[in-house]
Amino acid sequence: MKTELYIHIPFCKKKCAYCDFLSLPAYREVQRQYVDVLLEEIRQPQTDEIWQTREAEIRQAQTEVSVPTIFIGGGTPSVLPAAWIAEILDTVHACFSVEADAEITIEANPGSVDAEKLQVWRQAGINRISFGGQSFQEEELQLLGRIHSAAQIRESVALAREAGFANINLDLMSGLPGQTAEAWENTLRQAIALGPEHISAYSLIIEEGTLFYEHYGDSAEENGNTAGKSMPDSGRTWPPLPDEDTERRMYERTGEILAEAGFRQYEISNYAKEGFACRHNIGYWTGVPYIGFGLGAAGFLPRHTPETGQDGWIRYKNTEQLPAYLAGSREPAEYQILTQKDLEAECMILGLRMTDGVEEAAFVRRFGHAIDTSYGDTLRRYEQMGLLIRENGRIRLSAEGVSVSNTVMADFL
Ligand code: SF4
Repeated sequence: MKTELYIHIPFCKKKCAYCDFLSLPAYREVQRQYVDVLLEEIRQPQTDEIWQTREAEIRQAQTEVSVPTIFIGGGTPSVLPAAWIAEILDTVHACFSVEADAEITIEANPGSVDAEKLQVWRQAGINRISFGGQSFQEEELQLLGRIHSAAQIRESVALAREAGFANINLDLMSGLPGQTAEAWENTLRQAIALGPEHISAYSLIIEEGTLFYEHYGDSAEENGNTAGKSMPDSGRTWPPLPDEDTERRMYERTGEILAEAGFRQYEISNYAKEGFACRHNIGYWTGVPYIGFGLGAAGFLPRHTPETGQDGWIRYKNTEQLPAYLAGSREPAEYQILTQKDLEAECMILGLRMTDGVEEAAFVRRFGHAIDTSYGDTLRRYEQMGLLIRENGRIRLSAEGVSVSNTVMADFL
């Protein structure tokens, strides 16, 4: 059985204004301590009661599976010395059977890579880089609290090419405060000009606990009532968020512009040149098991209970408390035994994110009954409303369905 690996590096130089990921700044000594604990976790999962189950599952995974993809995410993995990343991957190879053509991705911030670092990554087997570019407009980068300029995105991509990376993703963000449709199109075109194989184009979501939430959170629906108020350390004022029509236009133009440039949209926010869709993420969306290592990392694994002879699935999430993680605690933040209903709902929700949608035969193979047995009424209703399309053995969102995808997906819960 195939099992994907996710490895979390939670460190960043500075917190971005929109970020609610598990990330924090830390001194080098703490980062090294973290890597040591991480290596230990990869080699030797803990053995307290709840984790005995997980250890058994991971041990089983180590012996019986092959690893088709590894994703080193963050945070900003590129803040670590390259040799430490190589050490992590060496340990993974020593413990797991990694497929020869495995997709091995690392997330990086533009401006935090150099030729030497990239060379060490290549030698360690990394074959895909995902750069958090976000925008090519300097004002937007500043507003987002990014640590790099547009020129540094260009430099980093050029360096990665020189180092031999043939699979590069750029993350971009639309719907930013003050962003016009023209500015977004300009960002997209500058990104395309760099020739990446993959572009992830996300819409900004104002998450609680972020700097943006303080200014846009409570009033996001009213289009940002902080417009006109001063931003700290600057003579500027907080610009308003784009209205819904502008956001919709940005989304539509994203699809059109990227299609013209040879990208195929394969998921709500993801576009790739032929053969470069992210295998790791497709695995998440199609129910491939995965093990998460590191602070706050999540896993999804099959579980066999010998006493009852029952097979099932678990989802877990490591502790999100850095001191506890460094002290070796394996007390999970979450540990859930998933029911059949949970799994079916997840299959629909994640599957509908993809433009190919859910394959009906795959649903039958996985769950042993037709999709209509569980969701017949819901499917018919949304088909009649023109939000779902059912053809050639697949079910997918229509263009209109994508614009209200959250509402549609919620009905499968
Ligand atoms: S670089 Fe990424 S993970 Fe780090 S603070 Fe910014 S958005 Fe968050």
